Amino acid sequence: MADEQLTTIGRCHVCKRTFAFVPDAVTTVMIDPETGLPPGFTVLGTFREPTPEAVARSVREPVCPACVGRAERFRKLAAPPAPRLDPWWRGES
Ligand SMILES: [Zn+2]
Repeated sequence: MADEQLTTIGRCHVCKRTFAFVPDAVTTVMIDPETGLPPGFTVLGTFREPTPEAVARSVREPVCPACVGRAERFRKLAAPPAPRLDPWWRGES
């Protein structure tokens, strides 16, 4: 009863393992139930602009901390350096 953070049990979308999480704090990924992929991604691994319908029907799926950690390590190892997105359109004052 003293537990203020309500945990729930769900299935990680990536590894399919069940894990307990706090819904307000868990990392989620948007998934289009029609493709099982994030809206805009095709089964061929290409990306196109998601349709409003795809975004509307997409649901947030939880991702377990292990998969979040793997994704972050992968990003650091494999991803090319992201271009810096400086807000060049804003003057500094
Ligand atoms: Zn996982």
